[in-house]
Amino acid sequence: MTENPTPQSVWDEMRRGNARFVSGEPRHPRQDVDRRNELAAGQRPTAALFGCSDSRLAAEIIFDEGLGDLFVVRNAGQVISDSVIGSLEYAVAVLEVPLIVVLGHDACGAVNAAIESTRLDAPALPALIWRQIAPIVPAARRVIRGSLVDGMPSAPVDAEAVGREHLRDTVATLLHSSELISNAVAEGRLGIVGANYRLAEGTAVPSISLGVTSDA
Ligand SMILES: [Zn+2]
Repeated sequence: MTENPTPQSVWDEMRRGNARFVSGEPRHPRQDVDRRNELAAGQRPTAALFGCSDSRLAAEIIFDEGLGDLFVVRNAGQVISDSVIGSLEYAVAVLEVPLIVVLGHDACGAVNAAIESTRLDAPALPALIWRQIAPIVPAARRVIRGSLVDGMPSAPVDAEAVGREHLRDTVATLLHSSELISNAVAEGRLGIVGANYRLAEGTAVPSISLGVTSDA
């Protein structure tokens, strides 16, 4: 990692790490005893990652990063909350990370639960699970509405489309809810990448890029 990482240099590094992971040639960098000792004095992560809790989305593994590299916030369905915003603001304001990666994924259980919940005969979810899922429902409703033919559903709901909509909503809500973060983006100190992780391939596919480019 360079001395003064920029949003672009950090994202490029993460993309290279993801490519190593995808090709089965990870380096597992910065995971040794020296690194652990060095970090005991303080952390200086290069990026914050906010992603779904899904066990297959292990942040450092899929981006081939090491100890002290990523400041990670995760919950089911990567749903924005005060706690998430506070943690990401801490990463930006105090740890001065130049990049936030928001990571959704295909076949997300939380997204599927949000889709299920729109059915008239959907069973009630336990209250706190419902509270976690509810912010995904508007994305599900938009996709369902967009697929109606003569007011009737024409095909099974496209869960990946709902996931992409929800990812877009998540980034928009983050910017709308945090002046600290939207200011940092406006000033060019912070980039945000919204990416969808493909479980089978292992690729993190960016669909939203603010302050960075994902061109090859
Ligand atoms: Zn998920």
